Amino acid sequence: MSAWDLLIGQSGVVAELDRAASAAHTDPGGRHSGAMTHAWLVTGPPGSGRSNAAIAFAMALMCPEGGCGECVDCRSVARRSHVDVEIIRPEGLSYRTGETRELVRRASIAPARGGWHVMIIEDADRLTESANNVLLKAIEEPPPHTVWVLCAPSTEDVLPTIRSRCRVVRLRTPDAAAVTAALIERDEVDPAMAAFAARAAQGHIGRARALATDEGARIRRQEILRIPTQSEDLASCFAAAANVLEAATEDAKSQTDPQDEKERSNLLRAYGEGGEGKGISRTPRGAKGAVKELEDRQTSRRTRTVRDSLDRALIDLLSFYRDVLVMQTGAEVGLVNDEMRTQLVQVASRSTPESTRRRIDVVSDARLALHANVAPLLALEALVVGLRSEQRS
Ligand SMILES: [Zn+2]
Repeated sequence: MSAWDLLIGQSGVVAELDRAASAAHTDPGGRHSGAMTHAWLVTGPPGSGRSNAAIAFAMALMCPEGGCGECVDCRSVARRSHVDVEIIRPEGLSYRTGETRELVRRASIAPARGGWHVMIIEDADRLTESANNVLLKAIEEPPPHTVWVLCAPSTEDVLPTIRSRCRVVRLRTPDAAAVTAALIERDEVDPAMAAFAARAAQGHIGRARALATDEGARIRRQEILRIPTQSEDLASCFAAAANVLEAATEDAKSQTDPQDEKERSNLLRAYGEGGEGKGISRTPRGAKGAVKELEDRQTSRRTRTVRDSLDRALIDLLSFYRDVLVMQTGAEVGLVNDEMRTQLVQVASRSTPESTRRRIDVVSDARLALHANVAPLLALEALVVGLRSEQRS
């Protein structure tokens, strides 16, 4: 398996990064080759594989074969443990300035295994303004062997001053056929399930994989899709909002719990304990401060993951109303939620295209509210009330 197999449905990007990596190998300083440069910005919608593109590129730069996928360098980059490749992701809602300064300091260290020192910044859209400024200085004057790879949903998500110093690589939303094929080949998912998951995930590869392989994820997805056909009284609307939040919290826990446990036992082991004890009372005296700090970071990561999970649920809800609109307007496109035809017909026949458009706005507003850090339950309650008022008019 080559490094580029990490990318699904992105042949243009693969060609460009492969060319850059080859140029980097023939001209290690990279000063003379136009194909290679010191700062990259990988953009693409969530789930299109931004981090995978950055990791594949790092593999191609580290690997003597240009990304064979098999050698020590390739495998350690993939495991996120290569000494010359740092993959950084904010633990909380944003990157702090101090954190970024420390990164810039580490980036200036010469590579240990020769070649390049690659700094991958996932979610560069979460850099605060002052963190952005710290990073800008580093990108303006990069040490000769440092490569920065920033990942963000779009070029608008990073400051223009940073964007103008990066070469932009744009990933597109992979089509359902490419995602289906990848699920069948790599994850050995049954073809019918793969087709369903690819369609429901709308080009988000990680989401498609979770839906295809985790029944819990499929059940939690149903929680939000119940909203359009639920009964009309206000009490059940609020109950539905609470259920959606609970499902998103469960979804987030399924992602963060294993990592939380691992970090905790690693920390306790470093302080000389077996790593079995859960309660803080069983923690060695000297470790208490460090454990508290870890727990704060984990709480902040969990908050962020719940919000991401809720956003995905709202995208699922948008897809439902988008399907309703497709039915109401007779557009000749496929349905995302084909397996829910009965419910779609029910909603489509009881509302107008105008009210469906307004409902789409209501869902979009809820996404914006979450993005602006409105308390999740409040945003969800406003959502269900907004959708319901449309029902009555
Ligand atoms: Zn290799």
